[in-house]
Amino acid sequence: MDKITQYALDQISLVIKNNERVEKKLELLDPALFLASLNQIRNSRLQRVMRRLLGIPLEKIPVSLRTFLTDLLKKARNPKKELPVPSEISFKYGDFLIKECHAGILYPENKKYYIGVTHDVDNRIGYRYVPEMINVLKKNRIKSTINFLTHSSYKLEKSLVEDIRKEGFEVGLHGDIHDMGLAFRGRRAIRRRLERSLDYLGFQPFGFRSPSLSLSYDLLGALDDLHFTYDSTFQTGSSLYRSTEYPYIYKLDQYNLFEAPLFIQDDYFFRESRLSEKESLKIFTDLIGQMKKYSGAAIINLHPHIVRFRKYFFSGVLEFVSGEKDAFSGPLYTLIRFYQERRKAREAV
Ligand SMILES: [Zn+2]
Repeated sequence: MDKITQYALDQISLVIKNNERVEKKLELLDPALFLASLNQIRNSRLQRVMRRLLGIPLEKIPVSLRTFLTDLLKKARNPKKELPVPSEISFKYGDFLIKECHAGILYPENKKYYIGVTHDVDNRIGYRYVPEMINVLKKNRIKSTINFLTHSSYKLEKSLVEDIRKEGFEVGLHGDIHDMGLAFRGRRAIRRRLERSLDYLGFQPFGFRSPSLSLSYDLLGALDDLHFTYDSTFQTGSSLYRSTEYPYIYKLDQYNLFEAPLFIQDDYFFRESRLSEKESLKIFTDLIGQMKKYSGAAIINLHPHIVRFRKYFFSGVLEFVSGEKDAFSGPLYTLIRFYQERRKAREAV
């Protein structure tokens, strides 16, 4: 058995012995070990250099050309356009937890699992769709998390941000520009870029998702320095990148941050692969549904610039989410607040 598995299992069995609750066990798993193994694979030297070189210039060209170029990069990475998700999900830690523990206490309202709908607003095409997207979500009685860029090809209007928050949606940060190399620029440089965004926003968002999911210790450190409550950049359902096999929200104690790992996103289906909306909807919702057996967190990313032109898929996913009576589906910060409060209550005992 490898070191990580052994460590996780030791911690878990220790807690089971002490008759503690599942939530405590999740916090005991040391995600630094996951992160260490992630870095070996995700942050290969070539990838870091490419991302650092291309990140800022790519942001300065028109969206259509940028999409064309990033499509080429994606094609180089995945020439056969294979769908980068497993058909059957499998989480070794999840299996163990569910077998050994009573799982029903992980989520508010006694729900069995979590579906976190999030939207990264990457460009102007997506941004223009946001008001209509909010209406569609409201019709389906879903409150989601919307991650904006502050200095990108669209001008983020503060009145829109305010309206969205008033409606009970969460506004998170996705960066100043969509710099795919952000995580690889050093802690101080990252912090400066994030500070620029915070100044613009004028409030402290709870969460952050890194552009193009670039990830490093420096990035997590900078988020911690700037008092973010959670990061949502680790992956659990992509086979293109090493996923953490741990589809739960947990505390990254060394950074004073929660991690809310991303499960799957729409561009796997429509950019990495070229499935029809109907096929995509079936696989997408099937994967989310499989999370129930792990009592896991299915955090999904629906880009407004993608779902805007795929209404069949979008409304199908939303109908599925609102029809899942066993799932808690509030915005991410509501779930993290729930964990924070429980933690406080436990410490007070
Ligand atoms: Zn993005």
